[in-house]
Amino acid sequence: MAGYFDTVAAISTPPGKGGVALIRMSGSEANKIAERVFITASGKPYSEIKPRVQTYGFITDLAEPKASEGNSQAEKTPEGTASPEERERIDDVLLTRFPAPNSYTGEDVVEICCHGGILVTRCVLEALIRAGARAAEAGEFTRRAFISGKLSLTEAEAIGTLLDAGSREQIRISAEPARRRLEERIAKIRGELVGIMSSVYARIDYPDEDLGDYSDGELLSALLSVADDLKSLAATYRTGRAITEGIRAVIVGKPNVGKSSLYNLLVGEDAAIVTSVAGTTRDVLERSVPLGRVMLRLCDTAGIRGGKGIDAVEEIGIRKSRELMAKCELLFAVFDNSEDFDGADAELISEISRLECAKIALINKSDLKAKFDRSNLADIFERVIEVSALDEAETVRSLVAAAEDMFTDGSIKAGLDPILSSARQHGAICAAADALSEAIAALRAGFMQDAVSGLVEAAIGYIGELDGREVGEEIVSDIFSKFCVGK
Ligand code: GDP
Repeated sequence: MAGYFDTVAAISTPPGKGGVALIRMSGSEANKIAERVFITASGKPYSEIKPRVQTYGFITDLAEPKASEGNSQAEKTPEGTASPEERERIDDVLLTRFPAPNSYTGEDVVEICCHGGILVTRCVLEALIRAGARAAEAGEFTRRAFISGKLSLTEAEAIGTLLDAGSREQIRISAEPARRRLEERIAKIRGELVGIMSSVYARIDYPDEDLGDYSDGELLSALLSVADDLKSLAATYRTGRAITEGIRAVIVGKPNVGKSSLYNLLVGEDAAIVTSVAGTTRDVLERSVPLGRVMLRLCDTAGIRGGKGIDAVEEIGIRKSRELMAKCELLFAVFDNSEDFDGADAELISEISRLECAKIALINKSDLKAKFDRSNLADIFERVIEVSALDEAETVRSLVAAAEDMFTDGSIKAGLDPILSSARQHGAICAAADALSEAIAALRAGFMQDAVSGLVEAAIGYIGELDGREVGEEIVSDIFSKFCVGK
């Protein structure tokens, strides 16, 4: 990061041609820079532009003088020597000023809405840079919002999720009401701990004041109540993780049982090649697939089979399948309902039984006459589900029900309940809960209140890491590096 306090600019809309593009500039010089390059269509001076109201006008470039009559190729003048009226107009635009502190970043912000051509957008950005702005780095606007206290770190993380959202549930968990609810819940827990500490310290620091007693019993019950709160907030991460980070899932099975058909059905397009020739899928394909509330990071794999007719490429695919099986969190094992249970099925099941992940057996081709003996599957698999890749709606319905039941808590509603959604947030809450458990244990073991209070302070510190009050530069940089430029 070049510097926190210089003025930065970036194209905030995605690269490529579009109807309009948005260029955003933030920093103490934003208005000065805009004034150098923007002329209002009405002739009004820049200083009279009303905040938060779009003003129509033109962007000029300090280095591009207007073409004179009869000479379309104007000669370049040294930068800045031509007045705005004498310069070439790059584009007609709508400019909006958001004065500090009532802006996204908390700094002076200027937003310019120009025509969405690739080159014209770049020329407008270059004009701002020539006039004194610096090109913003990835996530720099949101980082500035964090630094100026407009956003907590958990809110910034939620905005990152919102930008990357690939499911309605991810939008719900990261939209404003959800962000606010998590913020409020964290603030409440922190407030309670600070309240407990002040009750303890007030009596230690001002023994002569008549503050009444704060008994060990009172302290213990206050700590137990916050510990419960922390525990229930930590428990929301199981659901939050399934929604945002996703569950690494893999589809395995013998060739021709219908793995690719089921994969394509879930992904919603013909992503894997489906043929009736054994061994068609040789590579590992991975997609993010929303399955109801759960985001699957789903891999389709080469079928697992041994014996003749396997070439070197397929062999590598099968090895990769085995590696994925070892790393996945959810395994779909597909069996063919229309075939007899054979030695290869037994081998696959024995391999699966050694894995620690969640397991679902899919008895595919349920539209065909049943031959497959499934009597022993319930010992190995959490769920045994009959499906037919030919019946998309019913297959998706039963898989959504199973995945939601296995990986989320139905009583937690994204958007309504505060939900932890990143490993960082979960780690901070668990560390706070651990510190508090130690405090409770110490109090029960008869330690003095001021000895216990060090542990309670540690818990407050971990909560500070969660909202970003007490977080290291490395973590902040890591979070914002995941953002795109212009956000
Ligand atoms: P994979 O080798 O396990 O990936 O199997 P594929 O998805 O390539 O399917 C093998 C064959 O079974 C193809 O001809 C599919 O059309 C067919 N198939 C897959 N699922 C079903 C199903 O549910 N019912 C029926 N009748 N055929 C299916």
